[in-house]
Amino acid sequence: MAEDCIFCSIASRAAPAHILWEDEHTMAFLDIFPLSRGHTLVIPKRHIDRLTELPPAQYGAMLGAVSEMCRRIEQLTVNYNVGINQGAIAGQIVFHLHFHIIPRYREGEAFPRRRLPLDPADAAELSRMLSNGGGRAPPREGTAPPKG
Ligand code: AMP
Ligand code: ZN
Repeated sequence: MAEDCIFCSIASRAAPAHILWEDEHTMAFLDIFPLSRGHTLVIPKRHIDRLTELPPAQYGAMLGAVSEMCRRIEQLTVNYNVGINQGAIAGQIVFHLHFHIIPRYREGEAFPRRRLPLDPADAAELSRMLSNGGGRAPPREGTAPPKG
């Protein structure tokens, strides 16, 4: 765990988040300044800054968690962007590896220039929808639902 890393604090549950998914190595939660409804971040629990630092033994867990969250987000829309901002010039603000999953709803709609904080009521609704596997398939083996 890195000191002063907000995502390490979320991973250890020292800081609050709307957690949607957790397994041994990964966690997913709602972005607090969403670019669109359902904007989700997927992280490795152990602190690393860059994808190139991810231990190969965790490739499967990481991609599996991203894929699982994409599957759940498909309840909202089948259109979304998955990406990483890697390095300050590329827009990285939090230096703990994270995959963004950003749902897209309307053709030609740009990302908002001013991002509003996550609405608590909508976050509760999204958590209900996205943290239970979406009711379409049982959880993958070896995974656990979020605690608490
Ligand atoms: P990046 O520019 O790729 O480093 O993106 C960092 C993302 O983390 C931004 O979209 C922020 O809104 C989001 N973020 C920062 N702090 C938190 C937090 N405490 N909980 C959830 N999302 C956060
Ligand atoms: Zn960290």
